[in-house]
Amino acid sequence: NRRWVLASRPHGAPTMENFRLEEGDIVSPEEGEVLLRTVYLSLDPYMRQRMNDAPSYSPPVNIGEVMVGATVSQVVKSQHPDFAEGDWVLGGSGWQDYATANGEKLVKLDKEMPNHSWALGVLGMPGFTAYMGLLDIGQPKAGETLVVAAATGPVGATAGQIGKIKGCRVVGVAGGSEKCRYAEEVLGFDRCLDHHADDFADQLTDACPQGIDIYFENVGGKVFDAVLPLLNTSARIPLCGLVSAYNSTNIPDKPDRIPLLMDTLLKKRIRLQGFIIMQDYGHRIHEFQQEMKKWIQNGNINYREQVTEGLENAPEAFFGLLEGKNFGKVVVQVGPQ
Ligand code: NDP
Repeated sequence: NRRWVLASRPHGAPTMENFRLEEGDIVSPEEGEVLLRTVYLSLDPYMRQRMNDAPSYSPPVNIGEVMVGATVSQVVKSQHPDFAEGDWVLGGSGWQDYATANGEKLVKLDKEMPNHSWALGVLGMPGFTAYMGLLDIGQPKAGETLVVAAATGPVGATAGQIGKIKGCRVVGVAGGSEKCRYAEEVLGFDRCLDHHADDFADQLTDACPQGIDIYFENVGGKVFDAVLPLLNTSARIPLCGLVSAYNSTNIPDKPDRIPLLMDTLLKKRIRLQGFIIMQDYGHRIHEFQQEMKKWIQNGNINYREQVTEGLENAPEAFFGLLEGKNFGKVVVQVGPQ
């Protein structure tokens, strides 16, 4: 059993030194447990924060502990009445080949499901995040302008496409022309802008002639700076993530723009609301899954994955995710189907 453990806490961007690949025996399941073989491991931006020893909505990974992560696995041995050998499950085995689990947090997946890995993306936590953030906090109405950052990742791509289903004009923000072309041509966004462009703020102004009614915030930083002056009265901001700052070691040494932010929020009566998907909305996951399955079947939602082969390559794929080198939902194929 190979497993990636946290060797040390990163200062800034994580490096290979922060991880250690260990080998150990495969443990047999006890009464009431199952033994799981990992097939797919999900890599997600939140993992960067779990590497820090700072108070957050979830406890940090301890030094020497296996890195956390959602997984799609197959049951290889079962001592649990509800699970049989060969069952597919969504769980949280983390960055390792095998794990035992007591069944409490396992969700059985349909054996016939065509892409089991989708349970980690569009049909799972990231898709659910897009759905609740946009519909519950964003409250989209037909004809409104929605701006979505990290537009080709699993959260942003889904949020933007739901925005289209609800009749919004959708402007994506992504890194590079290839991602932007994909957002317009495949995801059906009205526009998509490259945040690396020197005149990005001017391009955003041109792309949003009616201002911005909803900004789905995934990144923060200079994208938010460009969005702020364009927000309309009564705009909504689902504050989902701030990935541009996850590798920061301190608050940037810039002029204090909080007074400008507060003034804009007040005068324009803007609703800015953070949320943590499972804590805030876990009870609504079934509603999401039913709706999303229909949308996928009807061709309303497209989904793209970037699959990295081999558990040994998980850290590199994770570094790339934090830098925008990924193009689609990052999944590691740990073992054969
Ligand atoms: P993505 O696959 O979208 O990966 C992150 C993307 O962020 C990168 O691909 C890159 O895209 C973009 N990015 C990275 N650095 C910067 C930067 N400096 N400026 C602008 N963009 C940058 O990840 P997810 O879809 O999984 O997650 C998107 C966001 O949602 C994250 O912030 C994540 O933490 C958050 N999230 C929040 C949840 C919640 O409960 N609140 C739950 C799940 C996710 P590009 O190259 O296009 O710039």
